[in-house]
Amino acid sequence: MGIFVVMLGPPGAGKGTQAKLLAKDLNIPHVSSGDLFRDHLGRKTELGLLAKGYMDRGDLVPDDVTVGMVVERIGRPDCQEGVILDGFPRTLSQAAALDGALSERGQSVTVVPLVQVADEEIVKRLTARRVCRNCGAVYNLVFNPPAVEGVCDVCGGELYQRDDDNTETVRNRLYTYHKETSPLIGYYFAKGLLVEVDGKQAIEAVQASLRVVLEMAGK
Ligand code: ADP
Ligand code: AMP
Repeated sequence: MGIFVVMLGPPGAGKGTQAKLLAKDLNIPHVSSGDLFRDHLGRKTELGLLAKGYMDRGDLVPDDVTVGMVVERIGRPDCQEGVILDGFPRTLSQAAALDGALSERGQSVTVVPLVQVADEEIVKRLTARRVCRNCGAVYNLVFNPPAVEGVCDVCGGELYQRDDDNTETVRNRLYTYHKETSPLIGYYFAKGLLVEVDGKQAIEAVQASLRVVLEMAGK
């Protein structure tokens, strides 16, 4: 049947941090729609250039473009046994498209952890986020700093600040989350898949909570 985890929660809740740990533990891919867009952007593909304006403003990239990109990714052989989805779906239409794509394969979403963190905490987290240009490892200058400033602990790569991690764009990303993505909470609750996790805990404690959630979901 496979295991298909949808990490839900506002930007900066720690979805990526947690998804990477879970993916390693379960030996399945971590698929982040934001990372896929940033990869396109780095390669200056048509899709990347289209996405850039939306990303810079903190708006959502249109559903048709996003769904096509993610469904193609999760259709690849390495995702047949499961995937940890992070940042997708973000609209009801994306959620319906995901259900459709999985059901065509005789599969379905296994569980949806909702990582909850208050808005003000998120602004603090995101403006202090740094990401490795080489391997994508995620740090925080306040809560999870690298051993050497500006250098990735994992690979020695250069750490950078994402263009959209400034206060103004973060505020719009939060607005967009509440308006367009929060309806997914009801959508997955109605399906009996939603489990709330306290994202304010330390990274290790959030991970431990998620492991319990997955065990209870039978994984
Ligand atoms: P998301 O993928 O949900 O946007 P990230 O995983 O990138 O969020 O985390 C956002 C920022 O918050 C990063 O700088 C990360 O290091 C930091 N962070 C993640 N989890 C925690 C936590 N439990 N406590 C404090 N900071 C955290
Ligand atoms: P993230 O890396 O998840 O914070 O996403 C960064 C940006 O990429 C978002 O602010 C959006 O502009 C875009 N994006 C990522 N995932 C999606 C999605 N599922 N739907 C629409 N836009 C997305």
